[in-house]
Amino acid sequence: MKVLVCGGAGYIGSHIVRELTKLNKYEIVVLDNLSTGHTIAVPEGIPVEVGDIRDKQFLEDVFSKHKPTAVFHFSASIEVAQSCVDPLGYYENNVAGTIYLLQAMQKHGAKYFIFSSTAALFGQPERIPIHPDDLSIPVNPYGDTKLAVETMLKWCDQAFGLKYACLRYFNACGADASGDIGEDHTPESHLIPLILQVPLGKREKIFIFGDDYDTEDGSCVRDYVHVTDLATAHILALDYLARENTSNRFNLGSGKGYSVKEIIEAARRVTGHPIPAEIKPRRAGDPATLVASSEKAETVLGWKRQYHSVDDIVRTAWNFHQKHPKGF
Ligand code: UDP
Repeated sequence: MKVLVCGGAGYIGSHIVRELTKLNKYEIVVLDNLSTGHTIAVPEGIPVEVGDIRDKQFLEDVFSKHKPTAVFHFSASIEVAQSCVDPLGYYENNVAGTIYLLQAMQKHGAKYFIFSSTAALFGQPERIPIHPDDLSIPVNPYGDTKLAVETMLKWCDQAFGLKYACLRYFNACGADASGDIGEDHTPESHLIPLILQVPLGKREKIFIFGDDYDTEDGSCVRDYVHVTDLATAHILALDYLARENTSNRFNLGSGKGYSVKEIIEAARRVTGHPIPAEIKPRRAGDPATLVASSEKAETVLGWKRQYHSVDDIVRTAWNFHQKHPKGF
C-alpha cells in the first residue's frame, strides 16, 4: 500500500516512517515543509516532497504523482502557548491546511486518513483518565483546531466515505532506541527536551510553570507516551481501517499521569545531574491534569506499549540528545 506521511520529517512523523520501513509492506512518501522537520530524520531512499499543505497546487502535484491510498497527517502547529498568541495562524495551518489535504484525498480517491489528534481537545476533562467519547471542550486554540478537524472528518466519512482514525495523545516523548532520531525543535518548548538541556550545559535551570494547580504536588500532570509506542498505534490504526472499513477515535496514553516535578526527578535519576528548577507563573492555556485512557486502543487495535516506565522514556531521549548535542 502506498502511504503519504505529511510531516514525516518531524518528530512524531519520522518515528512513524521508521516503524513503517521496518514492516517492508508499505511504499512510503514523505511530505514536509521543513519548518520544524529535518530531512536527515527521513531514512535514505524515501522520497521527500518539500512543500506546504496550505499550497493547493503543491498538494495537487503530490497526489497526481504518488496517488497514495492512505495519509498519515502530522503537519500541524503544536504549541499551546503560541496558539493562544496566534489563534488565526493555528486555524490557518491546522484547519485550512487539513481541508486542502482532505480535498486532495477526495479528488484522488485516497481512502484512509490517520489523524494526529490530541488529548488537549478535552480541555478541563470531566474525569481522569479521559475516555474517547468524553465531552470535548478545548481550553486553548490548539486543542480547538484539532477538534474542528475531528468534526470535519465525521462529515467527510458521511459524504464521500473517507475512513479515518483520530488518535489523541498528549505528551509524545522519548526517542527511537537507536538514538538516531528524536525530538529537536527550535526553539524548544517541550518539557523533557528542555529539562535535558540543563545536563547538556545549554541552560542553567528548568522553569516549572505553576505550582499552585489542584494536583498532588501543585505542578501540572500529563500523560507521557513514548513516540515509538505512538508509531505502533498509528500503524495498527491503518490496519484497522483497511480491515474493518470503519472510522474510529482512540485515546493513546498510559492511564497514569506524571507531574512536572516528577519528570524533573526522573531526569535527575537518569542523567545523574542535579537539574536546578525554579517556579514560574502558570503558562496560558494549561489544564491541571490530562491523562488519556488507552483501553479502547488496546482492545480494538490490539495496541501494546513497549515503554512503561518514565525513567526508560527519559533515558531514550537522553540517549538521543547525548548523540546529537547540537540537534540534527
Ligand atoms: N512545562 C514546564 N516548564 C517548561 C515547559 C513545560 O513546567 O519549561 C510544563 C507545561 O506547563 C505543561 C507540561 O510541562 O504542564 C508539559 O508541557 P509541554 O510543553 O511539554 O507539552 P504540552 O502539555 O503543552 O503538550
